[in-house]
Amino acid sequence: MLFKKIFFGKDKKEVPDGIWRKCDKCGEILHVVQLKKNFWVCPSCSFHFRINARNYIEILVDQEKFEELFTNYTSKDPLGFPEYREKIKKSMKMSRLKDAAICGTGEIGGIKTGLFLTDFFFMAGSMGSVVGEKFKLIADEVCEKKIPLIAITSSGGGARMQEGIISLMQMVKTVEGVLNLYENRIPYITILCDPTMAGVMASFAALGDISIAEPGALLGFTGPRVIQQTIGEKLPEGFQRSEFQLKHGMIDTVIDRRNLRETIIKILKILC
Ligand SMILES: [Zn+2]
Repeated sequence: MLFKKIFFGKDKKEVPDGIWRKCDKCGEILHVVQLKKNFWVCPSCSFHFRINARNYIEILVDQEKFEELFTNYTSKDPLGFPEYREKIKKSMKMSRLKDAAICGTGEIGGIKTGLFLTDFFFMAGSMGSVVGEKFKLIADEVCEKKIPLIAITSSGGGARMQEGIISLMQMVKTVEGVLNLYENRIPYITILCDPTMAGVMASFAALGDISIAEPGALLGFTGPRVIQQTIGEKLPEGFQRSEFQLKHGMIDTVIDRRNLRETIIKILKILC
C-alpha cells in the first residue's frame, strides 16, 4: 500500500491517466497492462470496467478475423437540434467511431458470426438513425449468409433524444430486424453490458434467443433514480442489476467477462 501513497498522495483520485486505473468498486489501484490482460476486470473484486466496442471485438473474435461492414454511415441532424452536430463531432473524436454502433462479421472459435455492438463512449451508446439502420443491415446480412448474430450492448441513453421521433422509430426498425432473424431461423444472442437501458433495452437488446449479461450491469428501462423518485419508495438492494434481473427471469445467465468467449463458443457450437 505504501507505493500508492508515494505515487498518488493521500487522495487516490490523483491517479495519472493512461498507466494506472482506480477500481470504481474496491478502490484498488491497477496497472492498465495487467487490467487489459485480465479483460478489464478488477483482479481484487471482479468489478467489470466499462469498455468500448472494439475491446469486445478483441476479447471475443479470433485474431484478425473481424471484417467491419456498413462503415460509412454518419448521423445527420434532422431536427436541427441545438448543439447536436458539435456533440457528434466531439463523440467522434473521443471514441474514434462514426456513430454509436459498429457491426460486421467475424469468426469466434472458427465459427462465422455476425456482430453488432453499441459503444457507450459515443453519446452513451444512444440509438439514433445510424444505430437502428446498422442493426437492420447486419440482421439482413446474417440472414443472407445464414450465420448467427451476436449483439453486444452498452447503451445508457436509449433512443437518442436529439433525433426525436426518428430515434424512436429505430426501436421498430430493430425489432423488425429481429423478426427477420426469427423467420429465417437465425440464432440471435445478446450480451448485455453496463448499462443497457431505455429504448435499446426495450427493443433489440431484450429479444435475444439467449440473453447473457455481464456481472453488475444496470439493465432496465427507466433508471432506478427516476423510479425511486416517482413511486416514492426505496428500491430493493441491487435493483435492475444483472443478478437481480436473472433472479426475476429477465435474462438467461450472467457470465464473467473472463469466461465470455469460451461460453459463446460453446453456445455457437450447440446452435450451429
Ligand atoms: Zn476492484
